Amino acid sequence: MVRGTGVSFLRPGSLQAPFPTPGTESAMRDPRYDVLFEPVPIGPVTARNRFYQVPHCCGMGYRYPSSSAAMRGVKAEGGWAVVCTEEAEIHPSAEITPYLENRIWDDQDLPHLKALTEAVHAHGGLAGIELVHNGMHAPNHYSREVPMGPSHRPIDNGAPLQARAMDKTDIANFRRWHRKAAIRARDAGFDIVYVYAGHDMSLLQHFLSRRHNERTDEYGGSLENRVRLIREVLIDTKEAVGDRCGIAFRFAVDELLGDEGITAEGEGHDVVAMLAELPDLWDVNVSAWQNDSQTARFAEEGYQERYTRFVKALTSKPVVGVGRYTSPDAMVRVVKQGIMDMIGAARPSIADPFLPKKIEEGRIDDIRECIGCNICVIGDDISAPIRCTQNPTMGEEWRRGWHPEVIPAAKSRERVLIVGGGPAGLEAARACGARGLEVVLAEAGETWGGRALRESRLPGLSSWGRVKDWRLGQLHKLANVEMYLASALSADAILSYGIPHVALATGATWRRDGIGLTRHQALPGLDTVGAFTPDDFLGDGNGIDRLPSGPIVIYDDEGYVMGGVLAEMIAKRGHEVTLVTPLELVSYWTVHALDQPFIHKRLIESGVTIRLNTRLAACRESTAELACAFTDAPSQIDCAALVLVTSRLPNDEVTLDLMAREADWADAGVKSVKAIGDCHAPATIAAAVYAGHRYAREFGEIIDPDVTPFRREAIGVA
Ligand code: ADP
Ligand code: SF4
Repeated sequence: MVRGTGVSFLRPGSLQAPFPTPGTESAMRDPRYDVLFEPVPIGPVTARNRFYQVPHCCGMGYRYPSSSAAMRGVKAEGGWAVVCTEEAEIHPSAEITPYLENRIWDDQDLPHLKALTEAVHAHGGLAGIELVHNGMHAPNHYSREVPMGPSHRPIDNGAPLQARAMDKTDIANFRRWHRKAAIRARDAGFDIVYVYAGHDMSLLQHFLSRRHNERTDEYGGSLENRVRLIREVLIDTKEAVGDRCGIAFRFAVDELLGDEGITAEGEGHDVVAMLAELPDLWDVNVSAWQNDSQTARFAEEGYQERYTRFVKALTSKPVVGVGRYTSPDAMVRVVKQGIMDMIGAARPSIADPFLPKKIEEGRIDDIRECIGCNICVIGDDISAPIRCTQNPTMGEEWRRGWHPEVIPAAKSRERVLIVGGGPAGLEAARACGARGLEVVLAEAGETWGGRALRESRLPGLSSWGRVKDWRLGQLHKLANVEMYLASALSADAILSYGIPHVALATGATWRRDGIGLTRHQALPGLDTVGAFTPDDFLGDGNGIDRLPSGPIVIYDDEGYVMGGVLAEMIAKRGHEVTLVTPLELVSYWTVHALDQPFIHKRLIESGVTIRLNTRLAACRESTAELACAFTDAPSQIDCAALVLVTSRLPNDEVTLDLMAREADWADAGVKSVKAIGDCHAPATIAAAVYAGHRYAREFGEIIDPDVTPFRREAIGVA
């Protein structure tokens, strides 16, 4: 019935959700992975296996505690032996407003922390808490306490504030606060309590650091002196709660600053040697956060091994490390090679909270692999609850009641036509299929994946193809989903099929008129210059071969990944490239994904000329006329071709046609039509996946647009 040459996967289906309900499959673990399921003692407690969710931010913290508890509980349900909180500030002088972290200042924090430990314990996990004083990283915007650190230094986030050098009373206070927080953590039910010297965000790391610590007392100078406070706090914590809780030490063994910082060959090595047996567990990584959580564009799976592999030789205590591991073979390798005892994960546990269970049940193909895009980090960095490109249920466990592996069967076996096989369409089809609906998925092109496929061909973004790969893998298991390629559907065609529910996921197209984030009118003179958009370089478009010789100007008035990545790609093909942007940074929004500095560096290394704070005012044949974003002062550069990375318009022709013909729906048997993803409003791939998932979850429900679509956390009145 659907025009096309695609393969149909229609087989007799079932009304039940066709995915195995977690925990109901008989164990079929590949014996090669047995080593990953060995228990690991951590001081007085024992982890049931080697899967360890290291502390990670989630934009929830003290503000959204029910959401946070539910999210961590789902990780334990998915098999992670240890599930940790994000950082928990131990005192009002340690807080990093506007970021939403945990707090353990006093007993008022205990109920929500208990909710979290209970959620983790309910599924057999150990709960860990990362106690933190942020030192000179804590501006204390909320508490208005005076920031503190080893020395008189500016607060490191640019606020016009300084941390004052701590005196002996301050040091004694800090030790007492940490000890009290550890006791509170134990009383809240935590099994693992952290001492934290990582990410350049911790008072203890600041004391350790030669660049931050210029003290002349017994806490400054020699390494022994700079380590003193860490040693004292480790001993304090052990004495306070070590009989009941494992004491973890999170330590950045290398700051990637060369001689200016801690290095794995130098002081990082020596600190591990000095404190080797003091903690019950070493959680080691690199610093600062942008180095620890590098995007896939800049770091491969296991990228931290070269820094952290020395640690195990110096301690008999278990070692956990991270490296965006999603492959069980890589995990087995690092254990067998003696690089680490436990597989640490933040992002892989976000993309797939059930990763351990899937390995345990022999369901390797079902693992939803992290793509290394750092959309999750962006959530935290903008003080919004975490979200994930691959896992649309992340952050929605409590407020929407979404489970990553379970989706309720639909009330009746209705038919749905989904038009467009990009991230939104694939996810809608997968999730509708999992609900037991009869799904027909039609895609105009010869391949699946839409922009997830197209953008994965750009330099460094191949892992983005996992968005498509995982969904196709799941769809191929669904008997009740028919899939057709080469099937460009019109409104006429759609009405002729008589399928009652239609979801349009037809994507978006980059604008060719120059209208973008800061330009609100079409760019003059575009007809006088060879103008390209990203669509000319993605997919099967051979835009790069059509570029003329001579200088290429990329105008980035969008500010996310695309402008920078195209500049890199075109420059690497030997073109002279100038990236012009009215924004103050290259790929501005990636600052929240932590990789903006890496992008800027790569563009410099690729020979791209960068013009920040500069508007494109007009084009005149082989000239781009520019203007200073502040003063309007004009300038000109040569421009053989212009690449406009500005904004996108929805591909909403079919939607509009169908809407215009609403009177024909009843005769055609159509009951509902809905646009989802980029064809509704262009956004990130994460937003498109979310839209597809939401469509499936809400299918058959009557949605009242006047009602807040999720549960809200209570706001207390003291
Ligand atoms: P999203 O991110 O919202 O999923 P994409 O642009 O990635 O959007 O994907 C949209 C997909 O829809 C593309 O693969 C495109 O080929 C397909 N498409 C667009 N129009 C039609 C149509 N009329 N019929 C079938 N498929 C379509
Ligand atoms: Fe991985 Fe991206 Fe999901 Fe973060 S948002 S966990 S980086 S897929």
